[in-house]
Amino acid sequence: MASSKPIPCLNTECDKHSQQFNWYCPSHLKPCCDECISTSHSKCTGIKSLARVVEETTIQKSKESLEKDINSLINLLAEMVNNKSRNIKTIEQQCEDIKKSVVEPRNEIDQHLDNLEKKFCQDTDTIWDKEKLKATDFITEIEEKKKNLEEMKDHLHTVIAYKSKLQSFLGVHQIEQEVHQCQQYAEGLENDERTREVDIKLKQNDEIEMIVSKLGPLESLGEVIVVKKENNLNKEKQI
Ligand SMILES: [Zn+2]
Ligand SMILES: [Zn+2]
Repeated sequence: MASSKPIPCLNTECDKHSQQFNWYCPSHLKPCCDECISTSHSKCTGIKSLARVVEETTIQKSKESLEKDINSLINLLAEMVNNKSRNIKTIEQQCEDIKKSVVEPRNEIDQHLDNLEKKFCQDTDTIWDKEKLKATDFITEIEEKKKNLEEMKDHLHTVIAYKSKLQSFLGVHQIEQEVHQCQQYAEGLENDERTREVDIKLKQNDEIEMIVSKLGPLESLGEVIVVKKENNLNKEKQI
């Protein structure tokens, strides 16, 4: 692109010493005056006469060479900008990925705990159903015996009202036998496990406490680190 700036007039004199540039130092790529040479370039080698350097130089060639250098610098910087911009996108994706990678095992743990809780509740319900059925069956059995005894009481009133003493005797005798059976049943119940009171309690799994105590000192799910990769940009350019 053409520059609209006015072309500055270049000084052919040294600013510092106000003397004409007579020399050129190739180490510093600088034109120098006599004073410059003795003060700042005394150790520089290859000092040449400026006039000779100017004469030996082809301006067109210098221009082309400079243009080449400028272009390759522009390309190099543009590539750096491209690489950094691409890098911003990759690290954004990496941050999302590492967040996900921490969430996944956590979800697995949650899922596992949910399953354990569900199974535990099911087991509790199964035991509750079983114990309840045992208890209600037992009550039904006893209520049946109780009902029988109530009937025997009624029957007793009937048989003692018989006119025949023999009839009454036989009736009472029969009831006696029935009562005796019930007494045996009641005595048998004393050793029957079903009369014992039942409690439902939790036998804690000690491992849970162990796991919880291990979670306490767990201070993080991982450390996010920045890794700087080998820079091969300059090497490629130098080849
Ligand atoms: Zn000077
Ligand atoms: Zn020098």
